[in-house]
Amino acid sequence: MRVFKFGGASVSNVERIKQVAEILKQEANDELLIVISAMGKTTNALEKVAENFYMGKKEDALQLFNQVKQQHLTISKYLLVKEWLSCEQLLNNFFTEVEWLLHDKPVREYDYYYDQIVCVGEMLSTAIVSAYLNESGISNKWIDVRDIIRTDDNFRDANIDWAFTIQQVQQLLPPLYQKSKIVITQGFVGATDENESTTLGREGSDYTAAVFANIMGAGSLTIWKDVVGVMNADPKQFPEARLIPELNYVEVIEMAYYGAQVIHPKTIKPLQNKGIPLYVKSFLDPLLPGTVIHEGVVKKLPPIIVIKENQVMIQLSSKDFSFVGEKPVGILYHLFEELALKPTITQNGAISFTCSMDDRPEKIQQLAHQASEIFDVTVEKGLKLLTIRHYEPTLLEKLTENHKIVLQQQTPETVQVLMR
Ligand code: ASP
Ligand code: MG
Repeated sequence: MRVFKFGGASVSNVERIKQVAEILKQEANDELLIVISAMGKTTNALEKVAENFYMGKKEDALQLFNQVKQQHLTISKYLLVKEWLSCEQLLNNFFTEVEWLLHDKPVREYDYYYDQIVCVGEMLSTAIVSAYLNESGISNKWIDVRDIIRTDDNFRDANIDWAFTIQQVQQLLPPLYQKSKIVITQGFVGATDENESTTLGREGSDYTAAVFANIMGAGSLTIWKDVVGVMNADPKQFPEARLIPELNYVEVIEMAYYGAQVIHPKTIKPLQNKGIPLYVKSFLDPLLPGTVIHEGVVKKLPPIIVIKENQVMIQLSSKDFSFVGEKPVGILYHLFEELALKPTITQNGAISFTCSMDDRPEKIQQLAHQASEIFDVTVEKGLKLLTIRHYEPTLLEKLTENHKIVLQQQTPETVQVLMR
């Protein structure tokens, strides 16, 4: 069996959902599990609903949610005839789930409400796509992933309970495959043992697909995207970016970690652990070969360029000229962990410690405040982190040309510069 993942862009409108059906007509010859994200920018729209609700702006929240509702109803009316009534009923159940909550007053933490509201995007998109495929003669079964993926209650970044999830996959999926070769479910979403919805972190649908591939021992995972495959740079920033036909897991995990938007960084481990190849292909042009990612050695890679914007540099220096040794550094790492901040570059000097990280204003402020008990702290915002793997000096020179480098680190493989 194989696993397919369709991202938000691949189901963002009527035409694209029809294109998904075309791909499946060509490709679906064995058992398939299909993981789908919320349509287009739905997750962003639902985030706004959650924010307004939490700020006590109930009417605004309801109105914003109504827009999401209407968009989904419109798309499903275009797509469906026979399946329309049963699909509408399912959609209405999900609408009601959110509206009930929006009529309450928030009494718990924001992240809890975020997950209860935002998860609906995936419920709606999968309900519509599943109904449309059934209507087009591509028989499939829909399942609510919250019955399968069990997580802890670390809302917005929940951790999977593998043992329970494996058990659910083994119990719930085989009966569905007896009825149909295709099963459709949601990415990004899970549930706690108290049936509260959770999410796995933004862009987490790739990860969901990899979890299923791992548990089901899939022959491969294919992620269908609006690009021709994995490129050596973001084509929006570098028009000369080119396709990399073959990569290995290590290369991709490094790229994703440094901020490449191609694949969610958590996706690789479940695949690597079972040696499952990952294909990244274009849903706009399914005949193109795309990129294959596997365990093996891949030689002669072009330079791979990743740019991460919105970085903060934090410089910490000892107040009294004492060394910044294991103890103060230990305290710092403890703070990083507590605040869930992940440094992108770190550099340790005799009486100083410098690092960069994504700008999370509230958390950075807390970090600076707490660290100021033992260090003099300076914070600089609005920086750019450039990472080049397999770099050539001339390329580094070109890409840093009109910038001021404030921090640099390099190994024979990789160079990273933080710049203004
Ligand atoms: N819909 C979610 C998001 O936009 C998950 C995903 O697309 O992977 O972050
Ligand atoms: Mg997405």
